[in-house]
Amino acid sequence: MENQRIESAAITAGRPARTPGAPLNTAISLNSTFAAGGAIGYGRFGNESWHSLEDAITALEAGDSTLAFSSGMAAISAVFSLLPHGAPIVASDQGYSGSMALLKKYHEQGRLEVRFVDIANTKDVFEALIGAAFLWLESPTNPGLEVAEMAVIIGEAKKRNMGVAVDNTFATPLNQRPLEMGADISMHSVTKYLAGHSDVVLGSLTVRDPALHSRLLEARTLLGAIPGPFEAWLALRGIRTFPLRFKAAQENAKALVPKLKEHPAIHNLRYPGFGAIISFEVKSDVAGTDRVCESSTLITNATSLGGVESTWERRRRWALESESVSENLIRLSVGCEHIDDIWDDISKALSAI
Ligand SMILES: *Cc1c(COP(=O)(O)O)cnc(C)c1O
Repeated sequence: MENQRIESAAITAGRPARTPGAPLNTAISLNSTFAAGGAIGYGRFGNESWHSLEDAITALEAGDSTLAFSSGMAAISAVFSLLPHGAPIVASDQGYSGSMALLKKYHEQGRLEVRFVDIANTKDVFEALIGAAFLWLESPTNPGLEVAEMAVIIGEAKKRNMGVAVDNTFATPLNQRPLEMGADISMHSVTKYLAGHSDVVLGSLTVRDPALHSRLLEARTLLGAIPGPFEAWLALRGIRTFPLRFKAAQENAKALVPKLKEHPAIHNLRYPGFGAIISFEVKSDVAGTDRVCESSTLITNATSLGGVESTWERRRRWALESESVSENLIRLSVGCEHIDDIWDDISKALSAI
């Protein structure tokens, strides 16, 4: 299975050994307790359904091993739990609202010394890296869709012997593989594109270094942030079609961008040139922007992203969202519906202002 392309690995990885009569899929293992002396000591230490999912994500991310967590935030928390008290770290000043809120809290508590920088400004990032111990990189950012010069920044951080973790949720391994660029950890909110059906919350961390794997495994075991076996099974089922779904959604997004750019009711469209998330601002007030989101019939007005179904929302409806995000910014997660139906729905909704 070495060196398979992502499209093949998504289908072949994490299967039981191919022996006569063997099932193609790992069963959902509902067990807390195992007879002593075997590979799994207890239900919080390991689970066959997790392990199959983990093997599949490892193949997608070109890693050595993966740990699944109960959510993306649980995976992120496990990474931060490894950092020593007061460690100076560099992070984007814009990014997923949950990661940002957690970093700000740790910073205020003195738990970490976080240097927030504009991740798209490589010169500023390089300056912030001086004397830092760790780099938390999210690119493209959520919801501003800023893009970092990933390879250059990771290279500089590694030259300085820093640890590097990348939130790869938006780009997905089809567009970017952080471990190949030298990062230590590639993190996913599996909830989004990998699982892809808006029916499961799950996270993952993929690494190459066995010692780092052991430390993260210890963090998962002791913090208890373990996934449910059924969720792991659902996510793996989702991964089988991840490349197909993601490419269809990305193609739809690329087709929508020029149409949206020409629309007189919106401005400041951001799209990094890849992926299936588009952010734009409505030329109206908060109420007008809300009306747009509420007027769609195909697209669901909802948070979260990365499902087969298109969703959008006014991001600032959340108290946690950064004030640097405009009040009338809509984040659109383009799904796999027919492009003409999506466009008809957007056009009708935009006429609501
Ligand atoms: C959703 C999301 C997270 C958090 O993941 P959960 O599974 O919701 O805990 C982290 N990073 C990004 C970029 C996300 O979109």
